[in-house]
Amino acid sequence: MTAGTRQDGLRVVVVGGGITGLLTAIGCVLAGHHVVLLERGPVPHPGATSFDQHRALRALVAGDPAATRRNADLHRRWRALDSLLCDHLPGACLYRRVGVLTAMPAGEVGEAVATAEAAGVPIRVATPASLPLIGFPAGAGAVLEPHAGTLLADRVLHAAARWLRHHPEAELRPGREAVDVDADTGRVHLADGISEHGDVVLVAAGPWSSALVDRPVTVHRQTMVYLRPPAELAHAWAATPTAGGIGADGRAWLLPSVAGTLLKISTDAARREVRGLSTPDDGTNWAGRVLSAGIVSEVDRYDVARVRHCHYATTSGGETGFVRVGPAVWARAASGGDGFRTAPLAADAVVAELARHTVRAAA
Ligand SMILES: Cc1cc2nc3c(=O)[nH]c(=O)nc-3n(C[C@H](O)[C@H](O)[C@H](O)COP(=O)(O)OP(=O)(O)OC[C@H]3O[C@@H](n4cnc5c(N)ncnc54)[C@H](O)[C@@H]3O)c2cc1C
Repeated sequence: MTAGTRQDGLRVVVVGGGITGLLTAIGCVLAGHHVVLLERGPVPHPGATSFDQHRALRALVAGDPAATRRNADLHRRWRALDSLLCDHLPGACLYRRVGVLTAMPAGEVGEAVATAEAAGVPIRVATPASLPLIGFPAGAGAVLEPHAGTLLADRVLHAAARWLRHHPEAELRPGREAVDVDADTGRVHLADGISEHGDVVLVAAGPWSSALVDRPVTVHRQTMVYLRPPAELAHAWAATPTAGGIGADGRAWLLPSVAGTLLKISTDAARREVRGLSTPDDGTNWAGRVLSAGIVSEVDRYDVARVRHCHYATTSGGETGFVRVGPAVWARAASGGDGFRTAPLAADAVVAELARHTVRAAA
């Protein structure tokens, strides 16, 4: 790695302006580096995986107190980001702690409660019958994490981009598409024929990353249906928590209509592995499958406002953070189905790596 453009920092090129790229760029700037962020579309890009109304943030992993404790720390991390990005916008609040309900077979509720208590995460046993708007599997019990909730994802992206735009050590470059990343030299070749060189290159192009770096991934396509509740139920939905483990088969989830958003539903039963991002779907009516999954009671009373198909990537190794793919190149090619809420951890870890390399380069 060569010396940075500044005496105490590196020139970091970030490819991709989704949640990973933006939070990593912020982390690098705060650590004293100069950042150039390349994004093929506008920043933020409505086509990014991260660009959605909301993303769930919960802590509980039933049976795993250590993972639950780690996840609970993300609440603190997101509250800190909320203050950093919105301190000049009183009441903006990107993280709405509306609670997260997890349904499960009634016999497993005790273990879930024990896990949360061992991890120090507040938890309550909930009664499915008290939430008549939501469809539950037969015989389900449920627990509620009252401190968990919903990240207003697209607003987070806008706030992060705004923060970077105002920082002298950050350069946002929209409309710049990377076509190749040389993992050995750290040179990024762009579609317009020019190239960018960084002391370090961080590839954060979401499910598109594997086209730029040699990281085999499995691509998952998911269908989300956005519903407008009947007017008389709007108030009840605004007070309903995010919910998982729901629907007739317990594989569905919903994000409620908080802060003026639409109610969003989906199910793991509609998730399919695809060869590539542009691989056409078979003729299955995926939206119909989501709507008939028993996620919302009396779903015919709701307007379908929008349907979106969206991708995320995983690896067989299961890693979800940045992985080093060359002497000066790291990539977060597979962030998984929880990649939004864990993006601050991925950013923190790679910024800590850069600190180690800066020390070594200076020695
Ligand atoms: C249906 C669905 C539901 C999900 N629900 C949750 C949830 O509830 N909680 C949670 O934590 N996570 C969830 N996730 C996962 C999460 O959304 C993703 O892991 C995360 O948003 C990935 O962010 P990213 O920044 O890595 O990628 P993206 O958000 O995809 O950003 C990549 C960016 O790179 C740009 N780009 C791509 N190629 C290039 C190029 N060649 N040159 C320049 N720029 C490029 C793109 O335009 C884009 O802006 C969900 C994912 C899906 C699909």
